[in-house]
Amino acid sequence: MKKTFVSLEQLKQVVKKYPTPFHLYDEKGIRENARRLKQAFSWNKGFKEYFAVKATPNLSILKILKEEGCYVDCSTLTELLMADTVGFNGDGIMFSANVTPKEDLLLARKLKAIINLDDLTDIDFLENVAGIPETISCRYNPGGTFAYNNVIMDTPGEAKYGFTFAQLIEGFKKLQNKGVKHFGLHAFLASNTVDNEYYPVLAKLLFETAVVLNRETGVDIAFINLSGGIGIPYHPEQQPADIFAIAEGVRKAYEEILVPAGMGDVAIYTELGRFVLGPYGCLVTTVIHEKHIYKEYIGVDACAANLMRPAMYGAYHHITVMGKEDGPCSYKYDITGGLCENNDKFAIDRMLPKIELGDLIVIHDTGAHGFAMGYNYNGKLRSAEVLLKKDGSTELIRRAETPADYFATFKF
Ligand SMILES: *Cc1c(COP(=O)(O)O)cnc(C)c1O
Repeated sequence: MKKTFVSLEQLKQVVKKYPTPFHLYDEKGIRENARRLKQAFSWNKGFKEYFAVKATPNLSILKILKEEGCYVDCSTLTELLMADTVGFNGDGIMFSANVTPKEDLLLARKLKAIINLDDLTDIDFLENVAGIPETISCRYNPGGTFAYNNVIMDTPGEAKYGFTFAQLIEGFKKLQNKGVKHFGLHAFLASNTVDNEYYPVLAKLLFETAVVLNRETGVDIAFINLSGGIGIPYHPEQQPADIFAIAEGVRKAYEEILVPAGMGDVAIYTELGRFVLGPYGCLVTTVIHEKHIYKEYIGVDACAANLMRPAMYGAYHHITVMGKEDGPCSYKYDITGGLCENNDKFAIDRMLPKIELGDLIVIHDTGAHGFAMGYNYNGKLRSAEVLLKKDGSTELIRRAETPADYFATFKF
């Protein structure tokens, strides 16, 4: 059974201060998980986690991660501004963008971020816009399908990202001629996978590629970036990824491939978003409507504008009706928001305890790619974000939008 990190008694206090809906984050869980990740990869001297800001773009959350020794991965100008505001700079920022506007590159260079190029043509573009730095990284796309044990994990051949292998060779040589001293190699080949073999298989592919690149071009490969993609168990029947087993799998590949090639000083980087934050946030919402037609509908005060994943991908998010955790799940409901879109459903045909008006509902695992994907369709406003602190107190870390925020951009 999936448990909430907050109790009904705590929530009753919180909703007195901050009306629902809001996303709630668990400081203790976030800190402990960041420490586990760092410990799991402590075998690698240069290890760094660059948290993917897009997953949870909140300054207070980024500050907590900074205190835990994490860095940030940004892909836009606004994300770079957030990183700067929290005090990240230099090689504490990875800039992994694609279709990159000039202004974004200029700011990345100004902050001395490490730039991870997405395409061969980005080399000339970067040189013209902001100059070529001494350290640079390139994103690899091996094409085809990415399979492990005959199970297809994803299809890089259909993905818009990265250099082909031939382009990597050409690009590294070109960058070398332009004065680059240290190189990084990056790839992101599968998303949201709880399979402990994803990172080790990806690492093996990147390590082998790095050895060939080093042999063919003579460049110094300073780091290999395994990027994001480690998933979380959204469904109660799924097993969580075991970060210690994953890091050990990466270490084995490192010992087998990089060390014998004389590349035993390569730093390992990650850009995990979902794995770092996903389970440590939830969406808290109140039941405000019930409807009995051809199906049983429960309407809540949150909607897909606060959490898009179910509507967008049909994603499963576990739901707890607070105070009824131990009740029999003998009622079948669709849990809906109020958007004028029939896909605005947090759950379809979900078996739950009997729900009444006023019940508090917790939608689990919204800590990453939850609030972040919010939008203003139907004039719905973005919710607040609240931090449940280590000592059990709460802090508002982003206020809810008001109609005035929505009207602020009109010229009327
Ligand atoms: C989205 C993204 C991540 C984070 O992905 P998760 O699935 O949240 O771990 C990391 N790196 C890049 C370049 C991304 O686009």
